Amino acid sequence: QADIAMYQAKEKGRNNYQFYSEEINAFVKVQAMLETSLHRALEKRELDLYFQPQVNTKTGEIWGMEALLRWFHPKVGNVSPDIFIPLLEDTGLIVEVGEWVLLQACTQFVDWQSKGLLPPNTSVSVNLSARQFVNCRILDAVSLTLEVTGINPECLILEITESMLVEDVRQAEAILGEIHRLGVKIGIDDFGTGYSSLLYLKRFPIDHLKVDKSFLIDIEKSKENAAITSAVIQLAHALGLMVIAEGVETQEALSFISDYECDVYQGFFFSMAISRDDFTELLLRQSKTMSTRMS
Ligand code: C2E
Ligand code: MG
Ligand code: MG
Ligand code: MG
Repeated sequence: QADIAMYQAKEKGRNNYQFYSEEINAFVKVQAMLETSLHRALEKRELDLYFQPQVNTKTGEIWGMEALLRWFHPKVGNVSPDIFIPLLEDTGLIVEVGEWVLLQACTQFVDWQSKGLLPPNTSVSVNLSARQFVNCRILDAVSLTLEVTGINPECLILEITESMLVEDVRQAEAILGEIHRLGVKIGIDDFGTGYSSLLYLKRFPIDHLKVDKSFLIDIEKSKENAAITSAVIQLAHALGLMVIAEGVETQEALSFISDYECDVYQGFFFSMAISRDDFTELLLRQSKTMSTRMS
């Protein structure tokens, strides 16, 4: 367990940490151990979805939510997605888990909607992994999910990253075109952090850009972050895309993106990702506030 605590700490500071051979050994052991237990994690219901609220910047109303995977390891406790998502990807398990996430997220969304808890035009965002994007299986998964849950396709946003668009451009074009034809929306996650040209904004059917959270850090002090964030918001709007800021942690960050009329934000300032039950509570509170305001 001490090994794992160290592993998690090291993973976080990977770039500025000198590894010693002993520690590399521990690192490899922990990785192998996590990988083994990950195989059983799904059956044992150790994996669950949390939801982070996304807020309409103008009105302060809930605009949507992003589904985020959580792994509660019985011994280790909470393992960070930054650690277990790459493991899921290496083992190929991400394909199965990713389909489970998609189905779960849409099922939960429809449940909230049917209980009248969601404001009109709310949407749910689901992250896709590059491994899910290499063949047409993703299209079957999306179609099946739409069919099984009955979710309005326009309420579903699939988040992809820039790097997924450069590997096989034709394949990406075909898959995104098909997803779009189903009515499902596409968002670019962590915009500005990948290796790709802006050309893809023209080439692919994209609906949303998400400003990466690294650009929101200390935005009131960092001229560079301020310049990049405002430029991305303006670029998105000039292209007719919606823009979502992630990692809004402070009032200053919120004021900044409000000034530039960023459409939607998510971040610790409003809420972290929370369990389904906590999200239900939040929706109940919101709907009460809204109805008091109207009466
Ligand atoms: P992401 O898709 O960019 O998700 C946003 C991450 O930022 C989440 O981290 C979220 O908890 C975190 N975050 C939100 N607001 C704030 C804030 O104000 N400050 C800070 N410091 N962080 C904030 P999380 O949940 O640890 O997920 C990390 C990454 O793991 C995600 O980044 C996504 O790439 C991946 N991931 C999570 N769930 C899934 C999934 O179901 N499938 C796939 N393929 N990837 C997933
Ligand atoms: Mg995301
Ligand atoms: Mg992101
Ligand atoms: Mg990210």
